[in-house]
Amino acid sequence: MAEDNFHIPSNIDSIDVPELFYNSDTGKPFENCLVCNCNLLEEDTMYLIERAIKKYNTLETSSVIFEYAMCLSCAMRMHEVLSEESKNKVEAYFAQHVNMQQRIQDNKEQFGTDVSKWVEHCMLKNTHESETEEYQLYGMFMGNQMLFTEMPYMLSGEAMDEITNLLSNKSLGDIDDFIDQFFGLPPEVRDAIKNSKGVLV
Ligand SMILES: [Zn+2]
Repeated sequence: MAEDNFHIPSNIDSIDVPELFYNSDTGKPFENCLVCNCNLLEEDTMYLIERAIKKYNTLETSSVIFEYAMCLSCAMRMHEVLSEESKNKVEAYFAQHVNMQQRIQDNKEQFGTDVSKWVEHCMLKNTHESETEEYQLYGMFMGNQMLFTEMPYMLSGEAMDEITNLLSNKSLGDIDDFIDQFFGLPPEVRDAIKNSKGVLV
């Protein structure tokens, strides 16, 4: 067992943070949590990365709408602002569209640690990446390692819209309030994250 990932359970595959999840501004792995600024590259720090991508008409060019890394404790605090009703609805929506344990098992067998394969189709709608105009990528990390568990996955714009529609107005307002506490975020990034609601899932 490699000494530098002794915190990761042996049944979870991991690889060095792949370029797909690098910070597109720096061309390197993310280093800090968006909210609390903690150092993500400490070997036992768990965190999520979300990246939203929009393609243009030709579908040959695409741009990152927003991206961030957030430590797990901040992500959990954000999840807590949701009402019970909203949480239950989102959970039921996921359960209806994907058998998560089965997916993990199938992907491990078919794709190993080929991250591009794990995110090739929308996890909920099965739409191929080439057929989406907008999509979001999610990954789970520990220090300099990416973990293959529930994540990585891709959600198409269509799935994201359906999830947003499940949330109550109160939950949506509470998320906006939470996001407004983020320091140092340019307003357009804040708005993009608000519109995505992605961190909830
Ligand atoms: Zn944090």
